[in-house]
Amino acid sequence: MNDKVLVTRTYMPPWEEYMTEIRDLWESHWITNMGVKHEQLRAALLDCLGVDYLELFVNGHMGIELTLQAFGFPKGSEIITTPFTFASTTHAIVRNGLHPVFCDVLPDSGLMDPDKIEGLITEKTKAILPVHVYGNICDADAIQTIADRHGLKVIYDAAHAFGEEYRGRPVGTIGDAACFSFHATKVFHTIEGGAVAYKDPSLGKILYQLKNFGIRDAETVDGIGANAKLNEFCAAMGLCNLRHFEEIVRARRKVTMRYRTGLKGIPGIRVLLADDGIKSNYAYFPVVFEETVFGNTRDDVCRALEKAGIWARKYFYPLTSSFDCFQGQFNSAKTPAALALSRRVLTLPLYPDLALEDVDRICGIVRSCYRG
Ligand SMILES: *Cc1c(COP(=O)(O)O)cnc(C)c1O
Repeated sequence: MNDKVLVTRTYMPPWEEYMTEIRDLWESHWITNMGVKHEQLRAALLDCLGVDYLELFVNGHMGIELTLQAFGFPKGSEIITTPFTFASTTHAIVRNGLHPVFCDVLPDSGLMDPDKIEGLITEKTKAILPVHVYGNICDADAIQTIADRHGLKVIYDAAHAFGEEYRGRPVGTIGDAACFSFHATKVFHTIEGGAVAYKDPSLGKILYQLKNFGIRDAETVDGIGANAKLNEFCAAMGLCNLRHFEEIVRARRKVTMRYRTGLKGIPGIRVLLADDGIKSNYAYFPVVFEETVFGNTRDDVCRALEKAGIWARKYFYPLTSSFDCFQGQFNSAKTPAALALSRRVLTLPLYPDLALEDVDRICGIVRSCYRG
């Protein structure tokens, strides 16, 4: 049992393993700019994710931002996306001079509702950017059918979906591109880092160039790129963590199952995981509180947990469409299902070495908040 339980806790590989992994770097003096570790990690990830093409990035956000840039959509183009996500997804669109158009989500998964997409398409629409939120996987076939009908690209924010499969398809093979995050808080991490898996091999050279200032060769700079390279220390962390990935997922699964048992039968509670057909990575444990049945609100539960030293997160609240930086630009009432979820969802602590007695304690506190 721990006095203080945070929503997540970064996985650390055995110290000796990391030291061994980075020893070469002292000999080579090559610590960034697509070095040996970078290439080893890229090869390992192609295999682990079951994808044909992959580019590594300094973080997941730059992966999304530069992928949008790589497609070369004209400024002011519209990108259909979801507001029920992390800031990164929406910011990547806006920072490219593109316009986010918010589509509502399905109440039982938080995923983009395919039936709501077509009504949002205009002549300015160029792409759909859905999120595999919490590791739930979007209805890829329905979305692709719409995209094909209207000549749109589909770029997935797969930040939560590392290593997952949907009906036997690796998640990185779904869409024109799938963007992963390797942030310290994610299921698989490289301290900071990210990767983009993509379908069209010609996109690779563009992504590579854009993450390296747009430089083509020593004397040619024909892209306006950023600096978004993954350094060797981060790549080395990735190589270590990848060796432990199966064991990390197993431990997370155990915690998830304990939650499911511990919360069973409490009226007005539902787990926001749609796990049919999904080989899950057990990244999150989101719970929705229907206050009319449960008798207390999500915020009440959050406060009760805090009093006991347990820090759950209102992930995702607020919707990105209601951020202060977008004041007056969007109307979150146009995505009522997303709005309702954001007001009711609470993501409970989940990490590989979370003690099962802490899970029991958390479930006990949640149960004690029930006022039927
Ligand atoms: C973590 C996350 C990102 C951004 O990834 P970073 O590696 O932190 O830049 C993007 N989208 C979602 C949904 C995320 O959770």
